Amino acid sequence: MSVEALSPETCTDNVYFRCFAGCEGKHPIYDVIYRCPNCGSLLEVYHERDSLRNRNAYKWQQLFDSRASTTNWPYGSGVWGMREWVIPSLRDENVVSMCEGNTNLFWADRLGKQLGLSELWIKLCGNSHTGSFKDLGMTVLVSVVKQMMAMEGNRVQAVACASTGDTSAALAAYAAYAGIPAIIFLPAGKVSTAQLIQPVANGAHVLALDTDFDGCMKIVQDVTEDQSIYLANSMNSLRIEGQKTVGIEICRQFDWEVPDWIIIPVGNLGNISALHKGFSLMKDLGLINRMPRLVAAQAAKADPFYQSFKNGFAAKTSVIAGETLANAIRIGDPVSYEKAVKAVQETNGVVEQATEQELADACAKADLTGMFTCPHTGVALAVLEKLVNRGEIKPTERVVVISTAHGLKFADFKVGYHESKLRDIMSASANPPVYLKADNQVVKDEISKRLGN
Ligand SMILES: *Cc1c(COP(=O)(O)O)cnc(C)c1O
Ligand SMILES: [Zn+2]
Repeated sequence: MSVEALSPETCTDNVYFRCFAGCEGKHPIYDVIYRCPNCGSLLEVYHERDSLRNRNAYKWQQLFDSRASTTNWPYGSGVWGMREWVIPSLRDENVVSMCEGNTNLFWADRLGKQLGLSELWIKLCGNSHTGSFKDLGMTVLVSVVKQMMAMEGNRVQAVACASTGDTSAALAAYAAYAGIPAIIFLPAGKVSTAQLIQPVANGAHVLALDTDFDGCMKIVQDVTEDQSIYLANSMNSLRIEGQKTVGIEICRQFDWEVPDWIIIPVGNLGNISALHKGFSLMKDLGLINRMPRLVAAQAAKADPFYQSFKNGFAAKTSVIAGETLANAIRIGDPVSYEKAVKAVQETNGVVEQATEQELADACAKADLTGMFTCPHTGVALAVLEKLVNRGEIKPTERVVVISTAHGLKFADFKVGYHESKLRDIMSASANPPVYLKADNQVVKDEISKRLGN
């Protein structure tokens, strides 16, 4: 099969930023711009559909199938294998890719049966370079920055973000790979060693400020105002372009069939917006003929989107986010609210929440069937159980749960659970190691006892 890419120049004028709220105007994606200059809304990258109709639906499927997991750089990346649908004008030499995406769709056979489902699949987005799905967005953002820096009159010198966890890890790694300076703003004393160490190891300028996350966010926005430092926080809609490939990849893994449900843990609401954007594009171009129902799963300690859903999305709700084990979704005032409302409404979706106890139990249960789930995935699995129990998800429907990070990034949570040391959590499935004398008979007796002999 011949695999020919569109030349970088072909689509330049057909892909641009536009205001998500609907204001007139096209803005080049190589401009340093994060919000609509007219109304302040978020921007979105828009792909003019006509420019993508040069191939029919079947040809697009064939093209994406043929590139998946190949060493034909950069097409082996799950993101850049769909290059024409991401940022077609990016030049080869500016693609900053570490072969992200193409993650395993794990068939959770045992867990599915325990829940009474015939088909449960877990999309393991944490099996990625820095251990979370944030890599999918960062490869796009950092690639665009690299191309900007090669353009005449460029003023961008560095990339920056405020984050305590997965965003800073991904930004630091991709920036290091590209040789672009990264500046990370962290609230001093409020992040764990594990969260600190990835950007430290990748050589980012890690600035620990004597404030909280919101304080860091204010400072990074001020620092990035003069346009020489490019803002990589999630109001930057370039990240959505990479993250939207997850939905397309899931369909590809099912031979272009659409699952009935996709459940995803949400905080700032970028990822669910991206999922919806990928499905909309496939539907517009005829690769699929229906949408999956999207479920946004929130931690009860930080559930503004759930509150808004309960009000029929009459108004955006903000809350003061409480402490949760699912710390990557501890967000009280989500940036991508409007995009996520559209995602839920257009897919007949649902928003549900899970308590700390529920997420911990869901993780433990899943781990006992061979997974190693992060707490955010636990939130999604707990929500899945609720929807199955109340009959909203039917036993024969095909369900996908998005696992957003690797459990190894949250070792403290796992250790705490199995040592029964998590505050306010009952560790019903704790499985601590047993310490024995190095004596043959003692060991044999213990094994007999455990195997029920
Ligand atoms: C960022 C993140 C989320 C939330 O994604 P949003 O786009 O903020 O909704 C969920 N899980 C993990 C592990 C994350 O890093
Ligand atoms: Zn606008």
